[in-house]
Amino acid sequence: MRILLAEDDRLLGEGLLTGLKNDGYSVDWVQKGGAALSAITTTPYDAVILDIGLPEMSGLEVLSMARSKDITTPVLILTAQDAIEDRVKGLDAGADDYLTKPFSLDELYARLRALTRRSRGLSQQTIKYKNIIIDPAAHSVIYNNETIELSRREFALLEELVISAGRVLSRSFLEEKLYNWDNEIESNTIEVYIHHLRKKFGSELIKTIRGVGYTVPKE
Ligand code: CA
Repeated sequence: MRILLAEDDRLLGEGLLTGLKNDGYSVDWVQKGGAALSAITTTPYDAVILDIGLPEMSGLEVLSMARSKDITTPVLILTAQDAIEDRVKGLDAGADDYLTKPFSLDELYARLRALTRRSRGLSQQTIKYKNIIIDPAAHSVIYNNETIELSRREFALLEELVISAGRVLSRSFLEEKLYNWDNEIESNTIEVYIHHLRKKFGSELIKTIRGVGYTVPKE
């Protein structure tokens, strides 16, 4: 999953960036309001972590502008401890949730998972597809009652495909979901991961639609 992190506090930003990456997210980090707005409006993020106190343009302005452009990406705002008014304004401006600084990384992860689950219309914590059970919180996959070891990217790719079962996902869409701005993407990267997944889950799971992309058939 790909996340936009808009936070101007260097220390907090670096901590969140490292933590989120370790937890398997692909993250772009911006430190100013203008950059946050342009990123939100041009990239299909799964969620945005938006500090309210950003330079140039506040998080609230960024949020209002994004919502006025019909951007529906889930947004979690970060507010200062005693800024109740910011929380209220943020929720009114279209934030989906908020966290008050300081917060624990574990709580942030749990809220991100809940947000992305809701935005995808999933109510369960685990994603089940035929004989595969994906647990995003534990980063584990069980296939035919056995735990399957997957790399971070293999996991992310499998999750995207299974959540979108029945839809064809283009290679460029999958690349956008798996990589952030800093990653150089080799032209056959997605194919390589698809190949790994087919070895682990059988060749029937993921179908190639020539010239279009990949799909996991509807259950
Ligand atoms: Ca700030």
